[in-house]
Amino acid sequence: MRHQEDDRRPEGRGRMTEAGTNAYPRTFVGLDLETTGVDSRVDRIIEVGAVRVVDGRVADTFESFVNPGCPIPSDIVHLTGISDADVAGAPTIDEVLPRIIEFIGGSPIVAHHAPFDTGFLDEAAGGRPGLLVGRGGVFDTLPLTRALLPRLPNHRLATAARFFDIPTGRSHRATDDARAVSDLFLALLGVLDQIGATVLDRMYRLADTATRTLIEAARERAEATIDPLAVPDHGEKERELQRLDTARGLGVPRTPAEEIREIDLDEIESLFGTDGPIGRELRGYEVREQQLQMLRAVGDSLMGGVHLVVEAGTGVGKSLAYLTPAVYFAVENGERVVVSTNTKNLQEQLFLKDVPFLERVLDIDFSVALLKGRGNYICQARWRQVLEKGLSSSERSQLLPVALWEQETRSGDISENAAFRQYGYVWNRISADGGPCLGQKCPMRETCYLLKARKASQAAHLVIVNHSLLFSDTEADNRILGEYSYLICDEAHNMEQVATEHLGKRSNVWRARAMLDNLYRNEGGPSGDLGEVMGALSGTDGALLESATAGVERLASDVTAASAAVETFFTALAARHIDLNDGREVEFGKLRYRQEAPVSALLEEELAGVLAALSTVARGAESVADLITDSELDRAESFVQNLTFHAARVREFAADLEYVAEAADPGSVFWLDVRTFRDVFECELRSAPVSVAEMMGDFLYSRVDSLIATSATMTVDGSFDFVMERMGLDLIPDWKVLTLDVGSPYDYDAQSIAVVAGYLPQPSSSGFNQTVSRLVVKLAERAQGGTLVLFTARSALDAVFKSVLDPLTSRGKLVLAQGHGGASSALLEQFAREVDSVLLATSSFWEGVDVPGRSLEQLVIVKLPFPVPRDPVVEAHCERYEADGENSFGRYMIPRTAIRLRQGFGRLIRSTTDSGAVIFLDSRLSTRAYGERLLEQLPTRTVIADSEAGLMTALAGIHADRSVV
Ligand code: SF4
Repeated sequence: MRHQEDDRRPEGRGRMTEAGTNAYPRTFVGLDLETTGVDSRVDRIIEVGAVRVVDGRVADTFESFVNPGCPIPSDIVHLTGISDADVAGAPTIDEVLPRIIEFIGGSPIVAHHAPFDTGFLDEAAGGRPGLLVGRGGVFDTLPLTRALLPRLPNHRLATAARFFDIPTGRSHRATDDARAVSDLFLALLGVLDQIGATVLDRMYRLADTATRTLIEAARERAEATIDPLAVPDHGEKERELQRLDTARGLGVPRTPAEEIREIDLDEIESLFGTDGPIGRELRGYEVREQQLQMLRAVGDSLMGGVHLVVEAGTGVGKSLAYLTPAVYFAVENGERVVVSTNTKNLQEQLFLKDVPFLERVLDIDFSVALLKGRGNYICQARWRQVLEKGLSSSERSQLLPVALWEQETRSGDISENAAFRQYGYVWNRISADGGPCLGQKCPMRETCYLLKARKASQAAHLVIVNHSLLFSDTEADNRILGEYSYLICDEAHNMEQVATEHLGKRSNVWRARAMLDNLYRNEGGPSGDLGEVMGALSGTDGALLESATAGVERLASDVTAASAAVETFFTALAARHIDLNDGREVEFGKLRYRQEAPVSALLEEELAGVLAALSTVARGAESVADLITDSELDRAESFVQNLTFHAARVREFAADLEYVAEAADPGSVFWLDVRTFRDVFECELRSAPVSVAEMMGDFLYSRVDSLIATSATMTVDGSFDFVMERMGLDLIPDWKVLTLDVGSPYDYDAQSIAVVAGYLPQPSSSGFNQTVSRLVVKLAERAQGGTLVLFTARSALDAVFKSVLDPLTSRGKLVLAQGHGGASSALLEQFAREVDSVLLATSSFWEGVDVPGRSLEQLVIVKLPFPVPRDPVVEAHCERYEADGENSFGRYMIPRTAIRLRQGFGRLIRSTTDSGAVIFLDSRLSTRAYGERLLEQLPTRTVIADSEAGLMTALAGIHADRSVV
């Protein structure tokens, strides 16, 4: 432990404010702890670091290892670099505690996620909260970072420090982190200094007590010096924050041509030559015949008004192959081309990366718009109303990151605000989907983000959407997107699944809570839209007050009763779920039920109770709306709209609940989704159409002149039949649908190899996870690059992670696992950075992962990704095939598995210089008849290894010189 003077002064940021009666703290102590885990009740402190900052200068430092009296877990050793040897001779926390308390003295503490650090110190002090924090106060830089930099991709200390170019030293070492957090605090004060008084006022209403003192200090000066709506200027750094604007290039007029005009495909193809504008801009560019073939086919289909199903393997560059002809076609004909992707991430990738590239290199002006569902946009009218209300402390802390962002954003799309938790009640209160739109009567209509996005999407040449919005639009009779004739669907192999999900219904307690809370809730005072009516009524007198108050109070009590009835119904459902599962309890799972034994029969009384309660609420909301229509009440019209909206939502919820509980529709499959959270069972009622093929034809294909459906995996057994049948494209006349498989530019035989560990026991055998663990350790140990291990089940991933963590960590390998620290994007980032690391993952990692080079050199597929046969939707699909006299395994299960397997394989080779191996640990590939059929789907050569030695020999060529022998 040492105290020392330090002249290091953070340059140019966060000067101490001396003006006014309020000021930022001149002295504070930046604090950080390293611990053996995250639970202060069971885990121990292993290092304490602190710096005292006076007038922006580091004046003193405190650092000490702490002997925790127990071994340090290996993942913590890996994370911090602190070993048992480092802390063996260190003082205990009982010895360190008085010294750090003395060091802090009466100064405020500054920490990132302060409750973590103060919680550990309080616990060490005998669980006496406030021992430390009660004296000088605590400033937490985590909520402050979220409030002031909401658009950072995440709000970890390292990310925020990087944004301000703050040196982080040894990350996850207490003293270096204490310095970084002090610099971050000063930098954040610098940001606060740039905010106008009106925006600061909004933040003030939402901030906690400590943050309010900082805002007050900023506001005093802001009132005198800057524009009340000023937002921080991040200069060059602004680009890193990735503003998602709604549209670009809208000045370019779009006038539909009377007849379809041809576009010159030779000219478009020439853009892709090595000396063309596209080729010149891309490093290491090579002409790819497959890409040219695809762009010609896309151009021909758009001009010819036919549908095209195209498989474009990894490396083709399919985005540019469809976007480029689409841009030329749209501009030449004044048409809109709608481009739909599977996920919002892919949607943003097109809008933020691929389209801007074309805007830059193509000598053609075009406009592009990004459109999402209305639930993605903030409603400024509702936001301003909510700010006026009394909010609970949890609502305030959730809404704080919205205040500055709402002033800065150009899109109003909440997904760019990583600091806000976009779910549940609070988002419902301010989202454009959470209440009725006032339209022309809205005072905010000129700046409304939703209206702006919709208007832009009407005017643009290219409109980028996602499949989910596409199906919402088809259900809403094109009221969202308007009429369009040209549609390109990327990742189209997922469309059946998205349609099935989207066209089904779900009823659960969370949806009910959010809906009813949005109408009325009482948490330290009435809130919700009814709470606002109550507030307005309290300012009136006379007849209106008398007549409306009784109705409003009755409705408030009806909402409370309906909330209780909903809770009762879903609690009873959870308790009775075993009746739907042959008397067996499940922790997680889907339990199918049918018309013969529906949920409505199982819980007849409870269902009747909840439906009656919901009906009472809907009628009550309508009756209060009637009472205040045409009244003198301030904002009466808006209240009436809100109440009518809620009544409709409640009726819709009740109808959905009745529909799924009765399970009477023979065209749908019904099930109960059971999950357990902290030993409490939760259930959701679900339904899905058994077949979406005809619906997709009616809703989608018949409405457009040309549909381009593309993906890297559109064929099974070399044929488009399976995908066409599942998507309903086989119901369209042959002349109208063309298919094309352009293949891939990669030389898979030379660049990769697939090895099947044919000697392993079957995945269902006992001890399989241990076998997998041992082999994963050996495979990762000998690999020069990274290893991605793909699982089909979370339980297997957890078991293997537990077994491989210590052996691989002790060999210097970083082991990452989905669900064991960090979001998926952060895990992938780390996996790509640490070249020889190991990543264990499941579900979403089978698709879309793009890690080129050595960082992903070895792909281990633990088990064949068969659809779960007992999944209600899968079961219903199989029943259909069987009812038609067909073998559901060969006709449905194998093709679905083949597509998933090819998607998984697609993670391995991501460039022409990549090489690597896929290792299958599922020996059924060599022992079952279907194994050969599945292996034939892969574009590379395969080896069946009959021993571990054989497996390693097959892989040796790759590991020896990174080329397959
Ligand atoms: S126009 Fe509608 S969505 Fe837009 S701010 Fe007004 S009420 Fe909200």
